[in-house]
Amino acid sequence: MAVYDVTMIPGDGIGPEVAEATRRVLEATGVQFRWEMREIGLAALDKHGDLLPQETLDSIRKNKIGIKGPTTTPVGEGFRSVNVGLRQELSLYANLRPGKTIEGVQSVFSQVDLVVVRENMQGMYSGIEFDAGKPETAQVIARINELNTKQVDPTAAISIRVITEEAVRKIALFAYEYARANNRKKVTIVHKANIIKFGDGLFLKVAQEVSKEFPDIETNDRIVDNMCMQLMQKPDEYDVLVMENLFGDIVSDLVAGMVGGLGVAPGGNIGDGVAVFEPIHGSAPSHAGKDEANPTAMILSGAMMLRHLGELDAAIKVERAVAEVIREGKNVTYDLRADRDPGKAVGTAGMTDALIERIRA
Ligand code: NAD
Repeated sequence: MAVYDVTMIPGDGIGPEVAEATRRVLEATGVQFRWEMREIGLAALDKHGDLLPQETLDSIRKNKIGIKGPTTTPVGEGFRSVNVGLRQELSLYANLRPGKTIEGVQSVFSQVDLVVVRENMQGMYSGIEFDAGKPETAQVIARINELNTKQVDPTAAISIRVITEEAVRKIALFAYEYARANNRKKVTIVHKANIIKFGDGLFLKVAQEVSKEFPDIETNDRIVDNMCMQLMQKPDEYDVLVMENLFGDIVSDLVAGMVGGLGVAPGGNIGDGVAVFEPIHGSAPSHAGKDEANPTAMILSGAMMLRHLGELDAAIKVERAVAEVIREGKNVTYDLRADRDPGKAVGTAGMTDALIERIRA
């Protein structure tokens, strides 16, 4: 039987608790893993003096697969997101975020089944920024004002939104190939090409070119604001949605909200021959260390990892166990209860025990 070498990054905040729950559930499927435990973010800073240690990157590059819990990104100066850093270092260009209703989870919508494919490396998250009032910013603004009829105010901060033809081609191909492999019928290209003529104009044009290679899959496009409204009104008309980084970040949280919130929303970051799975939610510091965080999102990210490894039976076992335990509503964390009563809920470990019992049954 295959033994998979997987890099596990527990993260910080609630990360270590939901990561431990995920490790236990994945092992209960009978699939064998050798975990390489590694750190990034705050946990790595203390130990390695580096937010994104080389040994963590090397481990993922060697194993070609990783699973991570959330990491805190303090707001403000001098601390760039290690999540963005990790995705860029490993060229994990596609962020896959399925949003599927789970019976028993409180949500406004029922029977939602959407997949957001988000470009993960460029757009507003390229990391090319110039702070207000800095000399280099003044140079950039002066040069823009020379070249452009529209003038930038000299006090401005500048954030550069980068979109290249090559990156759009890759993310669009990923979306269409994913749609085809997963028996999906339609891809919607989401953009703002009416206003952002060049960046989003390029995104729309190249994605439409790619769509021609997939005549078996229906294509349409939507302007991002209209997309949000339509998702609220008629989500059943949509299937796979592909978009640039910032739009994808926002729309995937919207979709997560439609299916019951961040506690149940999994994700995966996928590149050429390497993938790192992680829940959409953050480190939820107020719940950390209290055995109350919902482990579902990271466990379902683990199920996505199993599918990626070709372990379909094990993935289905995990997904079924999650659906059954949540539908029963007894052994679930407080956020999954209609009354949200922590006194009647079980903790992270208790819900994990119930899932494992179901998987083994
Ligand atoms: P968050 O996802 O941590 O929390 C948002 C809300 O959802 C909070 O009310 C939180 O308590 C709740 N929540 C989230 N996950 C939960 C779970 N599993 N169980 C129960 N409740 C849960 O988002 P935030 O507060 O905006 O961010 C906190 C930190 O996490 C920030 O530093 C942010 O940068 C970071 N973050 C990291 C990632 C990542 O590592 N991929 C993603 C998003 C945010």
